[in-house]
Amino acid sequence: MTDTIETFEFQTEARQLLDLMIHSVYSNKDIFLRELISNSSDALDKRRFEALKQPELLAENTELRIFIEVDSEARSLSILDNGIGMTRDEVKDLIGTIAKSGTKEFINKIKQSKEEGVNADLIGQFGVGFYSSFIAADRVSLVTRKAGEETATRWESAGDGTYTLEEAERDEVGTTVTLHL
Ligand code: ADP
Repeated sequence: MTDTIETFEFQTEARQLLDLMIHSVYSNKDIFLRELISNSSDALDKRRFEALKQPELLAENTELRIFIEVDSEARSLSILDNGIGMTRDEVKDLIGTIAKSGTKEFINKIKQSKEEGVNADLIGQFGVGFYSSFIAADRVSLVTRKAGEETATRWESAGDGTYTLEEAERDEVGTTVTLHL
């Protein structure tokens, strides 16, 4: 295992979205939980589906599940799943970049709603997903291991324009997202 930590910059739109998440005051801060559980749930579905074609991706006695762990001493909250997981390249593509075409529209709407003082439930409507974790967290880390792979990847960011990637270990296939509150 190498222990090099590489730093990358978020794509412009991802950075704008993160800025909005960090600086906006939402009354429903816990919306991130719904978004993260929904991601985990999708990941479980994907693993189940892929295993239809490649049964070795899901041992027969494996129970697909999502856990929430709270560490009050460390002031952190983790969402763990044993879904499909992500490769290092997928983490870079999926988490560092925003592929959705509606993102610009979303950013504009959020700005508008702030000016009008409307606290609309836009995050839920647009499905901001993973990025909504920064509404509540100062720092977010993600450790993920793709089904069929041995090594894991650790992603971490304080939402400040950059994120880091490094090789990691995870006993089981799947993803852990930790919010440092
Ligand atoms: P969305 O879920 O709307 O696509 P997100 O920003 O929340 O947007 O997530 C981007 C992508 O990252 C997802 O589409 C998925 O491919 C991947 N991803 C996010 N969370 C997980 C997870 N827990 N397990 C596996 N892949 C994930």
